[in-house]
Amino acid sequence: MSEENSRRDFMKQLSALGILGAVVAVGVGGTTYLTAGNQLLLRPPAAVDEDDFMALCVKCGQCLQVCPYDSIILADISEGDGVGTPFIDPFRRGCYLCPLLPCVLACPSGALDHHVEDVKKIEMGIAVTPRMDACIARENKLVSKEMINRIYRNTRTLTSRELQNYKLEDFPDKSDKRELEEKVLQKLDSFEGKACTLCADMCPLPNATDAIRMIADVESGGKKPEILEACVGCGVCVEVCPTSVLSIKPRATFSEYHKKGRR
Ligand code: SF4
Ligand code: SF4
Ligand code: SF4
Repeated sequence: MSEENSRRDFMKQLSALGILGAVVAVGVGGTTYLTAGNQLLLRPPAAVDEDDFMALCVKCGQCLQVCPYDSIILADISEGDGVGTPFIDPFRRGCYLCPLLPCVLACPSGALDHHVEDVKKIEMGIAVTPRMDACIARENKLVSKEMINRIYRNTRTLTSRELQNYKLEDFPDKSDKRELEEKVLQKLDSFEGKACTLCADMCPLPNATDAIRMIADVESGGKKPEILEACVGCGVCVEVCPTSVLSIKPRATFSEYHKKGRR
């Protein structure tokens, strides 16, 4: 297993452990649903404050059912207050910020706030770059087919046959969902052999250049991503980064996090 692969697997394991920690934190201490690293889970777009979310979410899974990108999963530990609540693991699949926010419209309880209609107003969290040293753009390294395949493997909507072959033409049907998936995968394919700008160019915000951009990295002589104020924390940049440079601070804002000098 390559170093990059094992890092991503490690991050996934950490994420899974975080869910376990979340249940423990709720069971022991109070209402806040925390991960093992004392971080909140990344909730679907327009989620109300965490305590209200925990009180309002009826764990019906409607948001998950309508999400065309399969971005939402449910906490699945067999006990604890948070089991069955929806969240997004950006290392697996970010939120692609559908213009009509179907997950929000489907929520029957108000846990996802129907007043939020503009994806630019979403405040899921903020992208951060804790592993900037791993950014291949700093080294002017090109995106390889193996890296693209690794991102493919990360997606849950592929069938086992697709997982074996990574070929778009093998998709079994042409439903709206599959078309969306194809668009994502085709866009990913277009990066092969090029300098890596995946995080910046895959950002699904309509005003993506206000959320993330590539800037010169004086230290390495290459480039690196810079997170900007418009970032809503959807997690797509985390999903597509081949070397797990980025992660999301759920519910944090740019001013809370980045203006403190922590990039
Ligand atoms: S906005 Fe779209 S991609 Fe994001 S969680 Fe909702 S339905 Fe899924
Ligand atoms: S930079 Fe873009 S892709 Fe990354 S979390 Fe922010 S809004 Fe999403
Ligand atoms: S996706 Fe962005 S952060 Fe990750 S290696 Fe490429 S340029 Fe660097």
